[in-house]
Amino acid sequence: CMSDGKTYEEVIKNIKVIAEEWIETAKELGREIPEPKDLFGNTPLIKLNKITRGLKPAIYAKMESMNPGGSVKDRIGLNMILEAEKNGTLKPGGTIVEATSGNTGIGLALTAAVKGYKCIFVMTDKASVEKVKYLKALGTDVVVVPSTAKPDSPQYYVNTAIRIAEDTPNSFYASQYTNPANPEAHYKTTGPELWEQTDGKITHFVASLGTGGTISGTGRFLKEKDKNIKVIGADPYGSIFKTFKESGVIVEGTPYLVEGIGQERIVENVHFQYIDEIINVTDKDSFNMSRRLAREEGIFCGGSTGTILSAALRAAKDLTEKDVMVFIVCDIGERYLTKHLSDEWMREKRLLEKDKTTVGIVYQT
Ligand code: PMP
Repeated sequence: CMSDGKTYEEVIKNIKVIAEEWIETAKELGREIPEPKDLFGNTPLIKLNKITRGLKPAIYAKMESMNPGGSVKDRIGLNMILEAEKNGTLKPGGTIVEATSGNTGIGLALTAAVKGYKCIFVMTDKASVEKVKYLKALGTDVVVVPSTAKPDSPQYYVNTAIRIAEDTPNSFYASQYTNPANPEAHYKTTGPELWEQTDGKITHFVASLGTGGTISGTGRFLKEKDKNIKVIGADPYGSIFKTFKESGVIVEGTPYLVEGIGQERIVENVHFQYIDEIINVTDKDSFNMSRRLAREEGIFCGGSTGTILSAALRAAKDLTEKDVMVFIVCDIGERYLTKHLSDEWMREKRLLEKDKTTVGIVYQT
């Protein structure tokens, strides 16, 4: 019995009646009731005020962490599914298979839930436990393979996903590293949003490179609007993109801890012609910058956002008051609470820098 004397069933029935009435009223008023996909994209820009002290340009965060799935990848999850339905590679009742560091999986799973598809995701053991749990909670199957497997090994996460797709009847391999619907999602949405939100004043765009979708699609749109806009890539030390961009040589990658970005192989969706420069960032700088963004600007984000902001601040040193820089906030901090957003983890990895924002009291938990 609830506090006002009504039974639980009566309260729920009442809520249902109110909801139905509200939908009817909205329909009468001609208002559209949004579907989950209508909430993807159209994320706000936030101006940074503290971290940017002493720098001349205005620097804005593009809040991709505010997408329903908490990352920049909701946009491509939706677009890859819509395109696959259109070209017949994804059929009713089908199973979506993908190799993902987690965020693309979440993006795909949200749209798949609405449309009734099953999902199988292959991740490496480098991905945070939060991402694996999140995907399982969305009702998907998750296969975890060792992050030490090299691209030519059958265990490599992409090769495992391809094999699972081949063995699964009525399956669709989303293939975010090669699927043109990935950069296209950003060409159609992220790029135009940035152009409109800055009234065409954007001069510098900074993003990371995982699949390359964000930087390639957004970069292409912006350069078509104004070829003088500079597109800057942020990449972990250990990834091969910078050397490849500068010399065309593919070096051997070395491990790093930031998730979701960098590569040990060249992938089709990185369109180097839209990238002016790539800046390397250490794990230490990436993680400490991600923590500072939360503590100084109130923007709670993942490690790759720290990589991007470190590169952005470095590039901004040479710019003027006339410049307008936008960088991507790739995903939300909650999915790294057991990793770089935990002091213990940072200390264990010997990455923790002295922090000026806390009082320094340690409570026993
Ligand atoms: N940051 C995180 C945390 C990601 O998961 C990804 C996607 N792999 C990116 C950045 C990079 O985005 P993109 O794949 O569009 O290059």
